[in-house]
Amino acid sequence: MTSKTIFPALEIPETLAAGPGPGNTDARVLAAFANAGLADHMQADVLRGMVECKQMLRAVWGTENVHTYGVGGTGFSGLDCMLNAILPGDTVVAFANGTFSGIDCLTIRMKAASRADLAASPLDPKPANVTVVTVPHGQSVGAEVIDKALADKKPKWAFMAHWETGSGRINDIRAFSDACLKHGALGLVDAVSSLGIEDFAIDDYPGVVGWASCPQKGVLCLPLTYAPVSFSDRYIAEVKASGCPSYVHHPILEARHWGIIDGKDAAAGAYHRTHSGYAVAAFHEALRITLQHGRAQKARDYAFHEHALREAVAAMGCTVTSNMTSLVVLNLPAALAGREKELVQNCRARGFGIWPTLSEPVQVRIGILNQLSQTAITEIVSRFAAAMAELGANVDMVAIQDQLNRYYQTALAAE
Ligand SMILES: *Cc1c(COP(=O)(O)O)cnc(C)c1O
Repeated sequence: MTSKTIFPALEIPETLAAGPGPGNTDARVLAAFANAGLADHMQADVLRGMVECKQMLRAVWGTENVHTYGVGGTGFSGLDCMLNAILPGDTVVAFANGTFSGIDCLTIRMKAASRADLAASPLDPKPANVTVVTVPHGQSVGAEVIDKALADKKPKWAFMAHWETGSGRINDIRAFSDACLKHGALGLVDAVSSLGIEDFAIDDYPGVVGWASCPQKGVLCLPLTYAPVSFSDRYIAEVKASGCPSYVHHPILEARHWGIIDGKDAAAGAYHRTHSGYAVAAFHEALRITLQHGRAQKARDYAFHEHALREAVAAMGCTVTSNMTSLVVLNLPAALAGREKELVQNCRARGFGIWPTLSEPVQVRIGILNQLSQTAITEIVSRFAAAMAELGANVDMVAIQDQLNRYYQTALAAE
């Protein structure tokens, strides 16, 4: 080994995370992470913390599902655990309307594929037993499309993303749940982007038996911690009866460390894998913050501030095509069309982390995760306006500031 193999200490600058995720992590969460003592994964406070997290997560998600806990890793780790109930040969109808539901559909095709399907196309299998219904980017998955596909195919499983972050669209979870009940399908939902943002309760959607979310969006616990999942007794019965070809991401086995054993809450967890006291402390604090804010209030705050951002970019001549409340997805004015990536690169080079879409068509995505204040929204708007002006757009910053001030003043006066 030569000295060339030792690099200088890695320094990562502070940026304004104004994209679809991750959001800037709350200082309280980072403090909880850093202040945790070195305790092992079977130490009493770590185990108690996991049990408390499980209980807080049930409150955040509005559910009595016993199997509600965190899967170590990112959003796709929780999704992998949930989708592990799908076995080779199972029939599935899955809806895709953007980047992430598209990736979820790939996971589903991989899990439902036979050996022959995999051998025919190892990285992109297309088993005949999986039907992917593609809804165009920029549109929501709606009641008619859902009902028709489930009525036609009568699949064992149905899948949809709740909020598709790739295109910024909210899909019709009520219609999905109802159609699953009507046509006898077991509903699975990617709630990565909606948990901790929208005011919804899992138990109001009985057609959906499995939910998976992530640590870095609405839950705001990036120090890589836990992807929340929740499974109904119906889902667990299916896994109990049919099995699951994974130890780590097994929906029943992974629950043990959270004190969910034999379908019931146990006093403390049993070993499944080496959980980190740091991660547990951070996740615990993130859930406390969400509950202190209140699910309904947090949802109102997102809607209120997203509206301010939406109006400001519209005043700059952009066209918004999204309807999520944590994210604005827009087309630039005609004069700047085709320069989306350049604009995003300029912003990112200055520590202003906005994003392009990751699949076609190219659009700009600006998010407000954990940026719920007039100051934060004004900062995002000013930085975006400056980047547009730099590319030659005619942006009247004074008028836009006035409009923002008026919006916030009117809201304050109404209180
Ligand atoms: C962000 C996102 C994912 C992926 O989450 P990771 O944390 O990157 O694994 C999946 N689905 C949706 C809807 C998302 O928004």
